[in-house]
Amino acid sequence: MNPVINLERVKQDIYTLGRFGYNAEDQGIYRQGFSEEDMKARYWLMQQMEELELQVYMDGAGNVVGRLGGAEQKALLIGSHLDSVPAGGMFDGVLGVVAGLECIRVIKENNIKLRHALEVVATSEEEGRFGGMLGAQALTGNLKLDWLERAKDHGGLLLREAMGSCQLPYHLAMEAARDPDSLMGFLELHIEQGPVLEQTHNTIGVVEGISGVFKWLIKFIGKADHAGTAPMDLRSDAFMGLADFAHEIPRIIDEEGTDKTRLTIGSVELKPGFAHTVPGEVDFTLVGRDMSEEVMLNIANSCRKVCSSIARRHKLMFEYDQMSWLEPKPCTPVMIELLEKHAKKLGYKTLIMPSGAGHDAQFFADITPTGLMFIPSVGGISHAPDEWSHWHDVEKGCNVLLQAALELVV
Ligand SMILES: [Zn+2]
Repeated sequence: MNPVINLERVKQDIYTLGRFGYNAEDQGIYRQGFSEEDMKARYWLMQQMEELELQVYMDGAGNVVGRLGGAEQKALLIGSHLDSVPAGGMFDGVLGVVAGLECIRVIKENNIKLRHALEVVATSEEEGRFGGMLGAQALTGNLKLDWLERAKDHGGLLLREAMGSCQLPYHLAMEAARDPDSLMGFLELHIEQGPVLEQTHNTIGVVEGISGVFKWLIKFIGKADHAGTAPMDLRSDAFMGLADFAHEIPRIIDEEGTDKTRLTIGSVELKPGFAHTVPGEVDFTLVGRDMSEEVMLNIANSCRKVCSSIARRHKLMFEYDQMSWLEPKPCTPVMIELLEKHAKKLGYKTLIMPSGAGHDAQFFADITPTGLMFIPSVGGISHAPDEWSHWHDVEKGCNVLLQAALELVV
């Protein structure tokens, strides 16, 4: 008989963690990285790990680690994050941590002997309050000291001050990096945070990789005019440039993209922004995503050409600034196969899919074989108090994780 996880324990852990930072008014969870509530949740987790007689510590970046196994053994890491966005939900991140803890409980109560060490990792500051994924970056040696010194949150609070008030001297985060030779892999179970699994009636999503993403700031500059006196054919209306570009997006994706391409205009500012003035300038963001960097380059190139030709048509100037370009991060083929194999063996409908959102796993993929798995989010909702996943899906996700982990460490 295959050992199975105990859903009641998983449920109880998720509900208990959901009380740290809970706000009764909007029913959201406020457990932003390095807040008091975030740290309380971390100490609670350490207590659970100690009760399981694991070797427990918090590293210099605030990551909580519980290890089962000898010091000289290579370790499989299972984990995700414990911090939340403001007014976040109960499952994001927490699921992957609690699932790891449950795997260890099952292993201990069945007296399963391990050839390798197994560690549960609760990463810190994944949601980007300070603009990165601090915990995972620190663990994977992807942290820069000057960034650590400069990073601020939205309200201007310095990361190093926030860490200091949690008794975490910031420079120690640089020492949290793990030696890749001491690791045998990283597995993360997460909620999908999108509607695809639910709509396609799949239970498990095995992630093939995390989409690359670029962000542009685009400007069309025309001429502000009186909305009554400037004839329609003599205008340089910046908004018309934006409107035309927005309509070209489906064509650009048809011609250059894939079913995984996403292009989004998420923020728009019209200047001067008066009802009776023809807009003289529009500044807007364009965010593009795909699983292939070549496709990203083609899409970006096409967007640039289309904007130039639209600018000519409307007598506008076109400028753009590339704010960021992150390459796609594929998950490790052996881990994709492993997760898919166990999901199917357990009889769960499984989809191989990209992740449009960033996750801790993307940093681990640089240093160790990495697998990431999703369960459905009801209505595709996340980062909101309504975030929910059905308990039967939670149970299935945890069981796939357990079987995959057992194959690797037993
Ligand atoms: Zn998350």
